Amino acid sequence: MTVHAQPATLAFPDARRVVEERALTLHPGHAELAPLLRSRGRVLAEDIVADRDFPPFPRATRDGYAVRSADLAVLPATLKIVGEVRAGSRLVGLLGRGEAAEIMTGAPVPEGADAVVMLEHTARQSAGVVVARAVAAGENIVPTGSEARSGQLLLERGTRMGFAEIAVAAGVGKAQVSIYRPPRVGILSTGDEIVDVEAHPGPSQIRNSNSYSLSAQVEAAGAEPVRLPTAPDDPVVLKHLIEEGLALDLLLLTGGVSMGKYDLVEQVLTEFGAEFFFTGAQIQPGRPVVFGRAWRGSGAASATFFFGLPGNPVSTMVTFEIFVRPVLDALCGAPPGKLRFLTARLGREVLVKTGLTRFLPARLSGEFERTEVELVRWQGSGDAAAMARANCFLVVPPGRERIASGEMVSVLLR
Ligand code: AMP
Ligand code: MG
Repeated sequence: MTVHAQPATLAFPDARRVVEERALTLHPGHAELAPLLRSRGRVLAEDIVADRDFPPFPRATRDGYAVRSADLAVLPATLKIVGEVRAGSRLVGLLGRGEAAEIMTGAPVPEGADAVVMLEHTARQSAGVVVARAVAAGENIVPTGSEARSGQLLLERGTRMGFAEIAVAAGVGKAQVSIYRPPRVGILSTGDEIVDVEAHPGPSQIRNSNSYSLSAQVEAAGAEPVRLPTAPDDPVVLKHLIEEGLALDLLLLTGGVSMGKYDLVEQVLTEFGAEFFFTGAQIQPGRPVVFGRAWRGSGAASATFFFGLPGNPVSTMVTFEIFVRPVLDALCGAPPGKLRFLTARLGREVLVKTGLTRFLPARLSGEFERTEVELVRWQGSGDAAAMARANCFLVVPPGRERIASGEMVSVLLR
């Protein structure tokens, strides 16, 4: 087994680029057929194509009267009512000159008609309907096939299914869709002080919250978390559990990646021929984050990617969001996603040291043009409760040490 040289800590954009590039080399697992609603958050393994024209008929978008627009050249115009078209019905025959059909939203516009006059601009009389306003040809009608033509690609393989995508699939009659099996993600917490959530912690022990936050994040990313037993800071036990984790599709370790005497994760990973893509990022929180791949056992044919996430709960959460997600996207069968930022006005001045890209727990409040963001009170990377008070990360570029209140700043949603 080869032990690779460890590259240095990377600037955030470089570390991010490494993750995205490596993610592109990964492939999803097998496809399976699932009931449409079970596809939510998962990734399509088939193309979804329009099975007919959308809409399948010229659709009225207003309640009113289907007319020939040319009949309204002189106003007011009185038209003869020849029938009624409700959604789900249709009027057979051609609408003749001087004629109108009462029509409801969603109903097919009869042949011969080329516009719909809104009910509001009409008055019903014994002689027929009196129209007070002209309409242009095509007004209040969505033409046949204008949203999509039969056979047109609507959702590409690799699309992650949200509610809009599920609506599209339902619209073309896909009660079942082919989706990729979610990748299985090993979650391995390390640390002598870490005890299970059910246990009664001793005075210097800490409950394992990272396995839970990570499981929740993995599930939210459409993958399947596999929580492994907590590893003590003991190379033999750690090695055994890492081996178990490397048998899965991705391994996430937390803790044990800092410079401390008992931070053994990197050392034990090298026993699996680990190749480190980076061993730190110039970020806060999360600086000691590690990314690489290791072989599943001696002589193994395939490697498994791993992340060593710092053990501090906020660092674990942040590094998952900014680095692990693209890799999970790829393993799920989707193109690795970009981080999505928005800008908001800073509510209260921010003072930091330069040199690191910071992702600080913050809270967005207000709506529309009054949206504001402020840091939440926090005691540093160990403060999970601060993260729970936050609803986003305020991004501070490495060159800034003071951002004045009122400035527009970047915000990463979570
Ligand atoms: P480490 O990265 O191992 O140096 O750990 C940094 C800090 O995070 C220490 O205070 C640990 O007690 C804490 N920590 C590590 N792992 C966990 C975990 N699984 N759950 C909660 N806190 C943790
Ligand atoms: Mg530790």
